[in-house]
Amino acid sequence: MNIQIFLSMKEKYENISYHIGEIVNNYEDMIEMLNLELEKSPKDKNIIYELELMMHGKKSYHDKIKQIDVFLNLYNKKAQKILGASLCEHDFVDDYIDVDVERSEKITYCKKCSITK
Ligand SMILES: [Zn+2]
Repeated sequence: MNIQIFLSMKEKYENISYHIGEIVNNYEDMIEMLNLELEKSPKDKNIIYELELMMHGKKSYHDKIKQIDVFLNLYNKKAQKILGASLCEHDFVDDYIDVDVERSEKITYCKKCSITK
């Protein structure tokens, strides 16, 4: 694959992941609002039903992000090979990625080429 197309696709995947993350954030806001309503009227079936819908929606988008992250990892690995270490004057930075809801993992990557240490 042409390197420019390859890198553009990687960027698009990152965009998709970011925007789905925004959707997940919106679901979380709605879940929080509904939980507050539920505290006021604990037996309201409509709120309970709505809450279930929101949690289901949030989970499905969350799963999507995980799928895309798998693609992104593959793209990043491939990008490392294609670009090669010699082409980049690396500028390494530390970052934390969420492994799941509770855990995050430290990664060190180059700001320019995304290669990880
Ligand atoms: Zn680099």
